[in-house]
Amino acid sequence: MIDVSGALKNPGSMFPFTEQVSFEPVTMMGEEIAFRDAVLEGELFGAEETVSIDARLKVTVQAHCARCLESVEYPMDIQVEAVFSREPGEDEFPITGHTIDGGEAARSEMIGAMPMRFLCREDCLGLCPVCGKNRNKSLCTCLEGAVRPNPFSALLNLLNDQNNKEV
Ligand SMILES: [Zn+2]
Ligand SMILES: [Zn+2]
Repeated sequence: MIDVSGALKNPGSMFPFTEQVSFEPVTMMGEEIAFRDAVLEGELFGAEETVSIDARLKVTVQAHCARCLESVEYPMDIQVEAVFSREPGEDEFPITGHTIDGGEAARSEMIGAMPMRFLCREDCLGLCPVCGKNRNKSLCTCLEGAVRPNPFSALLNLLNDQNNKEV
């Protein structure tokens, strides 16, 4: 929670703030996603009966790779702008006593900015559908027989044959 009594008493003045926030885990596509080291840092200013914040949320998302299921740590850095009011209208957050909950505003921004799925790396090889081993760690031979022939190799053979005939 952030104390905004100063901002309410001094409309138009900027007040820097830092808030440690914590987020409950969320379930997305059947997977539990956790968050740690969440910090909201920025400036707030009061205007009449409202307080606005302009801040950045830094948070580490703890999820699992969609292909190989290894754990993935995904750092995020998100812009958070929000308006707080004693009588919050649509898209506004409440001022309770002399405090605001920056985490509540940051949470919706964070959920909206999160990727649909996480990968441990762009070229993750995933799990072998036959033996179930993590193919990033050990390349099994299960799929070797199933490798499709390169369509260009047939063409190259054809061209080589023609060249050989001409010589
Ligand atoms: Zn992976
Ligand atoms: Zn395998």
